[in-house]
Amino acid sequence: MSLLTTRSLGFVILACLCTLARAQTGPVRYRVDLSHAAAQVISIEMTLEGVSTDSVDVRLPVWRPGLYAILDQAGTIRTLKARGPDAQPLDVVKVDKSTWRVTTGGHPRIRVAYEVWAASLDNRTRHADDTHAFMSPSTTFLYADAWRSLPVEVSLTPPPNATDWQIATGMASEPNAAGWTITAPDFDVLVDSPIEIGQHHRTTFDVDNVPHELVLWTGATPSQALRETNLYTKTPDAIAAIVRTQKAIFGTLPYDRYVFLLHCYPGARGGTEHLNSTVIQAPPEAFHDEARHRRFLSLVSHEIFHTWNVKRFRPAGLVPYDYQKENYTELLWVAEGTTSYYEDLVLVRAGLMKPDDYLKALGESIDALRQRPGNSVQSLRDSSFDAWIKYNRRNADAANSTISFYDKGALASLILDMSIRARTGNDRSLDTLMRALFERFPNPDKGYTTDDVRTILADLAGDFGEFFAHAIDGTGDLDFEAALRTCGLELHREKGDESIPDSGLTLTDQGGAAGVTEVRSPGPGTNAGLIPGDVIVAVDAHRLRVADWDKLLERRTPGDTLTITYFRNDQMRETHLTLAARPKGKLLVRRLKDADDKARAAYTTWLGQPWPGDNSGDTKP
Ligand SMILES: [Zn+2]
Repeated sequence: MSLLTTRSLGFVILACLCTLARAQTGPVRYRVDLSHAAAQVISIEMTLEGVSTDSVDVRLPVWRPGLYAILDQAGTIRTLKARGPDAQPLDVVKVDKSTWRVTTGGHPRIRVAYEVWAASLDNRTRHADDTHAFMSPSTTFLYADAWRSLPVEVSLTPPPNATDWQIATGMASEPNAAGWTITAPDFDVLVDSPIEIGQHHRTTFDVDNVPHELVLWTGATPSQALRETNLYTKTPDAIAAIVRTQKAIFGTLPYDRYVFLLHCYPGARGGTEHLNSTVIQAPPEAFHDEARHRRFLSLVSHEIFHTWNVKRFRPAGLVPYDYQKENYTELLWVAEGTTSYYEDLVLVRAGLMKPDDYLKALGESIDALRQRPGNSVQSLRDSSFDAWIKYNRRNADAANSTISFYDKGALASLILDMSIRARTGNDRSLDTLMRALFERFPNPDKGYTTDDVRTILADLAGDFGEFFAHAIDGTGDLDFEAALRTCGLELHREKGDESIPDSGLTLTDQGGAAGVTEVRSPGPGTNAGLIPGDVIVAVDAHRLRVADWDKLLERRTPGDTLTITYFRNDQMRETHLTLAARPKGKLLVRRLKDADDKARAAYTTWLGQPWPGDNSGDTKP
C-alpha cells in the first residue's frame, strides 16, 4: 500500500471516528421505577441520544469492580425491549451472554426498557424488598460503549407508599417530583457509586471539614437492642479516627464527601470499596462487644484505605476497566494485600487496637502462612493474576495449590515496610511508598506497573530486586525473623517444641458423619489415600461423629496410626492414617527485652504507639 493511499485511508478512518464521536450526545438517562421493589423487581429504562448507526449494542458488565470474579449478572435481566422516540418497537437480538443488539431503524434516540430481578445481597450486587433497593450499578445498569464517557442522569421513583424512604449514594442527588435525580460525569463513576434507597438511619460527621455519612439499612426499623450497641455510640468516632489516621499517610482526602453504606442483617459479611463510598455488610453481633466491633472496624479501615489504594492509584491491568471480561493484573498483592496490611496497623495507630493484640494477630498470620502447603506452590504474582479462576473460585485443593494475595500480600507488605525502614534508618517506610504512588498516580486514568513500584522503591531505599524475586515472583517462606528485628520484635513459639497430632484433614458434618472437605498435601490424609468427598464413619472400629474428631485427636500422639473406615461412592473402604506432628503452642510476635533505642524508635513510628517501659519487654529471663 502506497504512502498516499495509507494517508488517505487514515484520513477517512479519522473522519469516520470524528463523525461517530460527535454523534452520541448525553446525558444517558435512566429511569428507575421501584414500584415492584417488594417483589424484588427493579424496572429500568435507558435512553440513548444522538444515535447514528444502524444498530447499537447495549451491555451489562460481567463483573463489578472490587470483586475479581465473573458474576454474569445479565442472567437476572428480563423483558428487555427497545423503542424509538415515538414508542415504535425496535428489533432486539441477543449476541452474547451480556449483550443485546438493538436495530435502531435510523432513529436518533432509542429507549431500552428491562427488568432486573434484585434478590441477592451476596457480593453486594443488587437487592430490593419492601424496605429498600440496593443497586451496585455494574450489576443493574446497561451501557453502550460509545456513550460510556458521557454524563449520566438517573431518576429514581420509590414505591408509592414508601414515604419514609431516603437515598444514599456517593453521587450528587437532588429530589424531584417523583423521587430523586442522580447525576454522574460518566458511566464509570456510576459503576463505582452504589445506590441505596430505603428505610435508613443516617449519622453524619466531619473529618477535617469534609462531610462523612454513615447510612444504616437493617431490613427493618433498627431494634432497641441495636440502638444500644457501639453502632450508635462509638462507631462514628472510631471511623473518624480511622479516616484521620489514613489521611496522615497520604496527605489529603481525595474526595469532597464520603458515604458509608452499612447493611446490617443476620449473616452479613464483607465489604466493597467504591469511589467515594463503600458498602459494608455486618451482622448485628458485630456491634455487641469490643472484639467483634474491632473486627468490623478492621473492615471499615480496609475499605477506606482503598479510597487511595486502587480507587486513585490503580494497577495498569485494571485501567480502563473492561466490563466484558477478566481484567488481569499481577499487582493485587498491592491493591488488596497492602490494603490488608494497613487495615489493622491503622487501628493501632488510631488507638482502636492494642499493640499486643496486633502483634498476636500478626503471629497467627505468619503461622498460618507457614503451615499452608500452597505457599510452596503459588507466587504472589500468580495469585494476583489468577484471582479470577483461583482465589475467587476456590476449590478443595486451594490450601495445597494457592496462597491468598490478601494474606500473603499483607505479610509481604510487612517485609517491605521493615526493609525500607531498616535501609533508611527508619526515615522512610511503606507509608512513603503509598504516598509516592498516590502523588504520581493521583487519578486512575493511568495505571501503575510493577516497574513503577520498583522504580519508586529504588528512589526511596535502593534496589528491591531480591524482594520481588523471592516474595512476589517466588514461592516459599519469608524471613520474618529478620524483618521484625527492625522494630525490636521476635518470633517465639509458645510451649517450645511441644507438638500435637495432625491428621492433615478438614472435616465437616455430613449427616452426623465426617465429610472430608480438604486433604492437605503433603500430609497424613494424602498418605492414607483419602480425598475430598470421602465420608469417614468410623475410627478404630468406633463410630465417628465429626464433633468428636478433635477430642479423639487430643487422646492420641504424633506417630499413632488410626484405622479409618469411610465411604467413597457408596462403597465402604478402610485405610490407615499415621498422625503427623504440628506445634502445640501459638507463634507469637513479641518485643525483645534487649531491643536497642533504634529498634524501639522504629517500633514507635511503625505502630504510632510508645514502646512500653523497659521492664515490660515480653522476653522471659
Ligand atoms: Zn479489598
